Amino acid sequence: MYFCKNCGEAYMTDEAVMCVKCGVAKGQGSSYCHNCGKPVAADTAVCMNCGVPNKKPVPANAKSKVAAGLLAIFLGNFGVHNFYLGYVGKAVTQLVLTILGIPLCCIVIGALMILAAWVWALIEGIMILTGSINTDADGNPLTD
Ligand SMILES: [Zn+2]
Ligand SMILES: [Zn+2]
Repeated sequence: MYFCKNCGEAYMTDEAVMCVKCGVAKGQGSSYCHNCGKPVAADTAVCMNCGVPNKKPVPANAKSKVAAGLLAIFLGNFGVHNFYLGYVGKAVTQLVLTILGIPLCCIVIGALMILAAWVWALIEGIMILTGSINTDADGNPLTD
């Protein structure tokens, strides 16, 4: 049994793709528990009645995994992928490493700073593309 998360109506079959009562797509909405049909607060992580996780629908503005991965690989030195995903602290660190590294490039330390930021971003890019990093800073899942 599966209940409409928008209006609490019980679906006839598990195969139903949308609610026959309110027309909202299966899994959309956040007002009712999909497992027991009881009302839940939109921001609760777990249904207070039956204890199942109250899964958030994928937001319409979900970040793209491929975009984030490519940003990391090509522009990762500047932390662009972390700005994109909302990991501002990491993004600023990578950006600062690169910006400080450029004028220091004539001595070895600058080149090492740029290299460190680049390798770091490259590893994150691979982790994003392979799914090891699969949420943005707010915990929203990345889309394929
Ligand atoms: Zn409904
Ligand atoms: Zn429930």
